[in-house]
Amino acid sequence: MTPALHEASFYEAQPGGRALCTLCPHDCRIADGSRGACAVRFNDHGVLYTLAYDRVVTSTIEPVEKKPFFHFKPGSHAYSIATVGCNLQCAFCQNWEIAQWPREDLPRRLGGDHGEARLPLEALASAIPGRARSPESIVDAAVDAGASSIAYTFTEPTIFLELAYDTAVQARARGLKNLFVTNGFISEAPARKIATVLDAANVDLKFFREKSYRRISRAGLEPILDAIRLYRALGVWVEVTTLVIPGVNDSDHELRKIAEFIQSVGPEIPWHVSQFFPAYKMADRPVTPVDTLRRARDIGLQEGLRYVYEGNVPGEGHEDTICPACRTVLIKRSGFTVRENRITDGCCPACATPVDGVEMSRPRVAVSGRRP
Ligand code: SF4
Repeated sequence: MTPALHEASFYEAQPGGRALCTLCPHDCRIADGSRGACAVRFNDHGVLYTLAYDRVVTSTIEPVEKKPFFHFKPGSHAYSIATVGCNLQCAFCQNWEIAQWPREDLPRRLGGDHGEARLPLEALASAIPGRARSPESIVDAAVDAGASSIAYTFTEPTIFLELAYDTAVQARARGLKNLFVTNGFISEAPARKIATVLDAANVDLKFFREKSYRRISRAGLEPILDAIRLYRALGVWVEVTTLVIPGVNDSDHELRKIAEFIQSVGPEIPWHVSQFFPAYKMADRPVTPVDTLRRARDIGLQEGLRYVYEGNVPGEGHEDTICPACRTVLIKRSGFTVRENRITDGCCPACATPVDGVEMSRPRVAVSGRRP
């Protein structure tokens, strides 16, 4: 099926046929016939196109805990979609085959796009992998699968914002929630636009050092801090994830800076400190020791965060939700499964402290007097 060519939502036409993409803080100035840093936005004679619109490369139904969201309708399921592409280049990316595909494989496939030869828009769009899916068909599939939300995830949803937004509008109309799993590297205007249809965002806060963001992810720290503040201020439920990488961001100092920042935005924001596994250009690094994650969790709690989770760790007890007031276990999890949810009417059953989040109570069991 021929891909739908879709004009980008956030850009300005500039003299000389250039286009300034304003979707993310890279602010790429893109010459005619070239792509931006994410490699899925192409300037064709002064008009900027998204090459990824309607090219869904993966779709699957998952527990919402897997994204991870631990304080958003626990035990529910999200229909998760992605296109290829990302505006960051994290050396440790766990999904690099699809996230970095347009940057690494597309030029090879088409003979390069570094000024040697102009590539036609249609050829570029046709070469993007994925199945042509309309927003309607995505929402239909989510409803059929019994999902209560759609998650825009796996790669960076900012770079497929047009598809995410159009889908999210329709999902809302059908009673579904919308979830962003994002690196947070987005400009203010598009963040404000997507927030109008977002219910929750899990934002990666990978480091608290500008140098690390520049060197390892080709991004900057401040715009990500701004996005976290903005999403929360706009009423989007926010959770934060930090992949703790040995020798990179696992010092007490850096973990404490991250925790302090989250606390300053809102102590109710859950912090997921996740175990790193060697991947992509960091295949030589060791797996994060569980003790490191426990140390990170302790730091988060010392800094006043109410909920800190040790993510990706096998075994019990790392990802339970605990009442911040009386330490009663409220939700028991193993893997991505909710084993038990004791939250009652949104509160701890032991001390009646309200539990932060969206629809946190266990589903009520319908009582019927009739026997089948
Ligand atoms: S989304 Fe970001 S990386 Fe991609 S073209 Fe626009 S400014 Fe550049």
